[in-house]
Amino acid sequence: MAHIIANSAQFVSPSELNTPAADTPAPTPSVAGNPFRSLPEWIGRTPDSAVPPRVRLRVFQRYAGRCQCGCNRPIRPGEAWECEDTIAIINGGSRRESNLKPWLAEHHKVKTRQDVAEKSRVYRKSAKHAGVELKPRQKIQSRGFAKFEAQCTATRPIRKWSPAMEAEQ
Ligand SMILES: [Zn+2]
Repeated sequence: MAHIIANSAQFVSPSELNTPAADTPAPTPSVAGNPFRSLPEWIGRTPDSAVPPRVRLRVFQRYAGRCQCGCNRPIRPGEAWECEDTIAIINGGSRRESNLKPWLAEHHKVKTRQDVAEKSRVYRKSAKHAGVELKPRQKIQSRGFAKFEAQCTATRPIRKWSPAMEAEQ
């Protein structure tokens, strides 16, 4: 009998990720060592469903235990990692196995910030397109710098710092 080697890179190609087609069924992952048995893809019931441990393990193994943020670093034993929604839920991704990749927790934090920024960008763009006026982005006002007297003038000598000066303020 000929050996059939399961193609581990079959799962999600980058081009598939850019076109979230809801109708096309995601390829089912094959069980390591047994290419004839395939498992149904895990699909979360809600957008924030917790990923069950068996699915976490599959996600980890599919990417050979490497962080998929782009660094491709092997995740070391005991290191915190998360199942990252490749297309963020807030940007139309779905909570399903084919959309999950292992990411180191530290690297994940960065992406979450970027996803929120992306959502805001898309929101503003569609509002503009629809002719809906949004309030201008609020800048956080800094307190600014306190006004100090000039350090020295022609008539006043430079004051050297002393602990007593600190107490004055
Ligand atoms: Zn990474």
